[in-house]
Amino acid sequence: MKAIDQEILDKYKNLITEIKKEVELLKENNQELKEKIIQIKKKLELVKLEFLSKKGIISKLLNELPKLDPQVRKQLGTEINILKQNIEKEIKEITQTVEKKERELKYSCNVDLSINFSPDNAGRFHILTIVQQDLMSVFAELGFEIFDGIEIEDEYHNFEALNIPKDHPARDMWDTFYFNGGILRTHTSNMQIRIMKQKPPPIKAISIGKCYRRDNMDATHSFQFHQLEGFCIDKQVTFIDLIKTLYIFVNKYFGEDIKVNFVPSYFPFTEPSAEMSISCFYCSQKNENCKICKGSGWIEILGCGMINPIVLKNVGIDPDQFSGFAFGMGIERIAMLKYQIPDIRMFYQNYIEFNKLWGEV
Ligand SMILES: [Zn+2]
Repeated sequence: MKAIDQEILDKYKNLITEIKKEVELLKENNQELKEKIIQIKKKLELVKLEFLSKKGIISKLLNELPKLDPQVRKQLGTEINILKQNIEKEIKEITQTVEKKERELKYSCNVDLSINFSPDNAGRFHILTIVQQDLMSVFAELGFEIFDGIEIEDEYHNFEALNIPKDHPARDMWDTFYFNGGILRTHTSNMQIRIMKQKPPPIKAISIGKCYRRDNMDATHSFQFHQLEGFCIDKQVTFIDLIKTLYIFVNKYFGEDIKVNFVPSYFPFTEPSAEMSISCFYCSQKNENCKICKGSGWIEILGCGMINPIVLKNVGIDPDQFSGFAFGMGIERIAMLKYQIPDIRMFYQNYIEFNKLWGEV
């Protein structure tokens, strides 16, 4: 044997020519395209099996080489390799063409581009998305990095690492949905732990996302809601930095003349902790019958504090070298206050008329 049998070469050429003819037929847009594509793919598999598999023609030819004269062996070996490369190249090209056609079929739809368009029917962002985007851009301006978060969490990242051990009474406030191997996170504070574990200080980060609790639905509670978590860790971060940061945030988001007020509070993951209120932007502290501040002149908007040294230790950050502040706010609450939405359930009912009230077209 000095050359590859003409019979083998003809067989390969005939098979490929036959497949190529079928590929040509794919250009006609008819309804049997899917079936044709399946047939072509099957035939390509057969060519691979017959020529390129372990027991295929190419392997058989290569196995016979050692029996031949060195001179013939070299020449035939080259021919076999060229044949192998040609087959692989043809199969690759045909596969690409067929897969392209397959994608076109999958993603094509009957869109009538000439249809009359009314801006009233255009899609727009949900008010919760708008609030989240606005908050993110304010904190991005203040140098905070934005991190995505995970909603299915383990108990360690949601509770223990945040200084809420198993027997801690605070767990009652954060009861949630449990299932095998995980829970739905009760707050975005889990991301404090995850971000601190993946990034050494200094860190300035925010994370926004959905949280879950076992609350029954009423005008101000929902079993699913959104939170924004923010924190900053560096050397010599103090409570003053926290106040300054939140003050700038409030002025940028709610208005330049808004005042802030801090009242001591308690959270297991911050020490000391505070609730921050802002002066009523609705009545400017002038209406005793104000619906928003209920006449108090102040609106509570978020919880905050200095990150508990125990939390820093839990993620391997030395509390003698670093300190940090953290804050968290409910997106729905901010949206309800800013846009005077009376009932939290309105966000999730998907009434078109409600959604049309906000957002650019
Ligand atoms: Zn008011």
